[in-house]
Amino acid sequence: MTSPFDWIADELHSLEEQSLIRSRRKVQPLSGGRCEVDGQKLWNFSGNDYLGLADDPIVTTAVIDELKNGTGIGARASALVTGRTPLHSKLEKRLAEFKGTEAAILFPTGFAANFGAVTSLVGPEDVVFCDRLNHASLIDGARHSRARFRVYPHCELSTLRKELEKSGNFRRRLIVTDSLFSMDGDVAPLSDLAKLAEEYDAMLLVDEAHATGVFGERGSGLLEAQQVKSENILSVGTLSKAVGAQGGFVAGSKNLCDWLWSTSRTSMFSTALSPVLCAAALASLERIQSQPRLRRDLLSRSENIKLELQSQGWTVPESVIGPIIPVIIGEAERTIHLASELQALGVLVAAIRPPTVSKGTARLRISISSAHAEAGLRCLLESFHQLRGN
Ligand code: PMP
Repeated sequence: MTSPFDWIADELHSLEEQSLIRSRRKVQPLSGGRCEVDGQKLWNFSGNDYLGLADDPIVTTAVIDELKNGTGIGARASALVTGRTPLHSKLEKRLAEFKGTEAAILFPTGFAANFGAVTSLVGPEDVVFCDRLNHASLIDGARHSRARFRVYPHCELSTLRKELEKSGNFRRRLIVTDSLFSMDGDVAPLSDLAKLAEEYDAMLLVDEAHATGVFGERGSGLLEAQQVKSENILSVGTLSKAVGAQGGFVAGSKNLCDWLWSTSRTSMFSTALSPVLCAAALASLERIQSQPRLRRDLLSRSENIKLELQSQGWTVPESVIGPIIPVIIGEAERTIHLASELQALGVLVAAIRPPTVSKGTARLRISISSAHAEAGLRCLLESFHQLRGN
């Protein structure tokens, strides 16, 4: 008997042959930046909980208090219908204040925020300019919008300028960029991008997913750290990385947020963020703003790890400036092999392969957190040192 799903077995086999099959392991988070995988305790260098707020006691207490208040767990409806509680409104206000914008609007996830913003801002008469290494949510949003899609080489603004010069006939122009790139750990030239956007009357969407809570005097991200301000900018953030909770948001003008509220399908047709997560995010933002030492320590320990790995002889690009540290290996198979050797030594590091990164640039992606105990950082460096010797 055949089934219309038989093709899947062949495709899975083909993925396996290319070392592209993804395993579904169970990872139990533990305190101190550790986790347990199949009974083995490991230092977790694969997460995005940069400040250790995902299990912070103060944040946890805020969540428990909110549950005791009877708010409940689920939002019960999309934000547009009845899912937007006073906590959502309070968090939106707080995020706008944090980001220094007139307004902010929440989305169920960061993916939904990027996808929803791009598809609400442009359509078939418009053009989107996209850095080649941008996050999938921006790329998918641009494709889905049916706007003309122009990909420019990573951070290459001379190419972007040439494309912008040819874009006069389009109704609207939208440049989209990550601020801290998620697989390369480097930073977009935000000030130059903002100038280009102004020169060519383009909107500039900056995805601060990995930078929110990590960079800047107030911790609001790289736009703040690089002192970039422009009427042309809207920023996107996620609550699921340094903020330690879940959810996404867009920060910008009131008109922009009103427009997204009335048109963004990823907000309209999806249940609103859980109010409990809003309570968590509010408590986390308080921690981020009152504890600048957290992010300063994170950045200095990240820099130390980068330098140590380079001095051991690993390829860590000089452009890496934050907690995402890629160690470029090359071939997917060797990368997977090294990741499993690291795991045997007690260290969980993600093996990133094509199609997530381009062919021949497979890498071990380390992400550092304030949660990691010193012993964890030592174990990471000793394990890499040991692999070097093998
Ligand atoms: N943007 C970037 C750059 C990301 O890395 C991610 C998450 N991997 C997202 C957006 C999506 O955020 P979320 O996980 O909140 O959906």
